[in-house]
Amino acid sequence: MTTGRCSRLLSERLWPRTRRASNGCLEWLGGVNSQGRGVIGVRDNSRPNGIRMEQVHRAAWTLIYGLIPENVQILHHCDNPLCCEVVDIEHHCYTGDYRQNAEDRSVRGRHHMRIGLAVSREMVLDIRLRASSGELQNVIAKFYNLSPQNISRIVLRQTWQNV
Ligand SMILES: [Zn+2]
Repeated sequence: MTTGRCSRLLSERLWPRTRRASNGCLEWLGGVNSQGRGVIGVRDNSRPNGIRMEQVHRAAWTLIYGLIPENVQILHHCDNPLCCEVVDIEHHCYTGDYRQNAEDRSVRGRHHMRIGLAVSREMVLDIRLRASSGELQNVIAKFYNLSPQNISRIVLRQTWQNV
């Protein structure tokens, strides 16, 4: 697998070309496409030239959480198309599909509470089991409708330390 090497090279090309804005957005300073979205070349061996232009916030997401499943989009809470802040998913980039995006917009105010109440002891045990068997945290997050950040905290025992 060349994924590790590819990711490292991508991170070296991606993060240095960003700037932290005053509102917390991590803004892309590199090239943009015709829709004003930031783009960056990523390795893709299925392409004749071995490279494909990917949206920067999606590329940034894969660096932190791994590959994005087919039907999953990376959306912006901050509505800044150049933002690739993927760690602070409560305020910037987060995963979703079109339907979930609409739901999230309507319940955004209650979002935090919903996540806090949604986790049970059984879920914590299952989440850690899945993670230790190599399942990607963003896949687990989608399965449980939790944020990848929440999953990460559970796996790292930053939350639910007693379980
Ligand atoms: Zn942002």
